[in-house]
Amino acid sequence: MRIVSGIAASPGYAVAPVHFISREAPEIVRRVIAPGEIEAEIARLDDAIGKARDQIQVLIGKLAKDLGPEESAIMESHLLILEDELTVGRAREIIRAESLNCEAALKEAVGEIIRQFHALEDSYFRERTQDLHDVEERILRILTGTDDATVVGPTAPSIVAAVDLTPSDTVTIGSRNVLAFVLGEGSRTSHVAILARSLGVPAVLGLGDEVSHLIDGDLLAVDGELGEVVLQPDAETLARFRQLAQRESRVAAKLSHLKDLPAVTPDGRTVKMMVNIELPVEVDKALDCGAEGIGLLRTEYIYFQHRTIPDEQEQLAVYGDIMRRMEGRPVLFRTLDVGGDKVQRYLGVRKESNPFLGWRGIRFLLANPPLFKSQLRAIYRAAALGPARLMFPMITGVAELRSAREICRECCDELAGEGLAHDPELEIGIMIETPASAMVADLLARECDFFSVGTNDLIQYTLAMDRLNSRVAYLYQPLHPGVLRLMRNTVQAAHAAGIWAGICGEMSSETRYAEVLLGLGFDELSMHAAQLPKVKQVVRWTPQTEAAALVEELCACDTAEAADRLLTSYLEEKKARRFASNREGRVND
Ligand code: PEP
Ligand code: MG
Repeated sequence: MRIVSGIAASPGYAVAPVHFISREAPEIVRRVIAPGEIEAEIARLDDAIGKARDQIQVLIGKLAKDLGPEESAIMESHLLILEDELTVGRAREIIRAESLNCEAALKEAVGEIIRQFHALEDSYFRERTQDLHDVEERILRILTGTDDATVVGPTAPSIVAAVDLTPSDTVTIGSRNVLAFVLGEGSRTSHVAILARSLGVPAVLGLGDEVSHLIDGDLLAVDGELGEVVLQPDAETLARFRQLAQRESRVAAKLSHLKDLPAVTPDGRTVKMMVNIELPVEVDKALDCGAEGIGLLRTEYIYFQHRTIPDEQEQLAVYGDIMRRMEGRPVLFRTLDVGGDKVQRYLGVRKESNPFLGWRGIRFLLANPPLFKSQLRAIYRAAALGPARLMFPMITGVAELRSAREICRECCDELAGEGLAHDPELEIGIMIETPASAMVADLLARECDFFSVGTNDLIQYTLAMDRLNSRVAYLYQPLHPGVLRLMRNTVQAAHAAGIWAGICGEMSSETRYAEVLLGLGFDELSMHAAQLPKVKQVVRWTPQTEAAALVEELCACDTAEAADRLLTSYLEEKKARRFASNREGRVND
């Protein structure tokens, strides 16, 4: 048995065998072969194609069962590529004509077609390049004897292990049979971590090289609270994990009575308690925990579930379904926030050297008016079904907000002209997740209806720490004086302008910071469903005046470390107070 430590990215406990996902590209050697080897080389290619066909057929069956016929249809197109004369036929030709080994010939054949597709500038063909690459990689893996690269979730309860996963990989894997994620890379605010928390799946990230030594079937015990992974756990450890999991379900059961109680402080301040979701399946969890609405719908994940850009009608179907299931509770649609680590090849977001400082969020949307408009129109139309809110990501200043609002006006005019039901009055707000937006919050507050602070990016940009890089994860410091000042400025500017301010970054899911957010004056807290009862309990126990005094003291600290120590001693003292009141029978929750 061995214990390795990483970053506690999503709470919970799990014990299960590993399902390893390999994403490394196979290494290809280019070799000239002797004339006598040609037929054998072609036979080798055909054999690999046959094996690829078998793999794809298994996948089609599995995907159809797990995710539905739409997803499995994607793989059907891969079968067609295996028959395609332009691809594999051309590879055979190259083997003969250029006496090349089959790996190099296949790469050359695929490269030729892709160059032709790019020249056509047709989105259909551009999308097909991804499929071609997938098939090419599958065949090359078979030829080189490296692992299957297809990102597919486990078929039996397992712990998914990988060096890294993109957000779209994570969506493809889904949550079925996934008991935990363990990754070599990443930090608490990488999107894999966020998705894991939303799905209620424990995750330990930033484990480094340890992960690459894992193989399918290795037994692991994952502690998402401590950020530890136990390799080949002994009987005692297994018993301890069983107990921890049982205790966790007891705590959840104990907090369930809070579901229908309001989030009001003892001195009468009400805070709205909302849930962040990525996928429509999470609506039920939001309702179960007593959320008053959806405080952040990361719509990009709905795009990730589609192989091509979902059109207005497809989006409306999903958004409308969410609105209906939320039964009159508000739903905040954040427009597509791609870029950074959230890339989807069909959207044309290319690899950039500084992706988080690149073509992200509102920048991407303003550069793609037809795509932006189709999403806005779908959101405006869904708003006819209930109280929807619209929010733009990555705003840095007033000019971007104005441009986005101008496009909103165009959409409303069009919808009115077409006689389509929509709500032109829906609330429009922005994410405050860049330091610039927090600093000019007073200017922005005049031109929108609400703010929602995204601490994941706000902390990343303020402290210049890449949120995916485990080596600088220690700089995720929500109590850094720079971060606290930006948050305080944001809430004050919102209130001075008469608009509300919420927070939807991961900081709001951490009970440790609940008093701080209350004291900063946030009107709405949006978080993972599993955390909502715990945070609500803190709100119900903490007078607003006490939280505000705490924030005053925290803002006077000169370092994040000093603020952290101060918060720890406040929480310990409060716990002791609570314990004493409990013993005297003076508490009701
Ligand atoms: C944030 O940045 O805090 C946020 C909520 O957005 P995302 O995590 O999707 O970047
Ligand atoms: Mg963000």
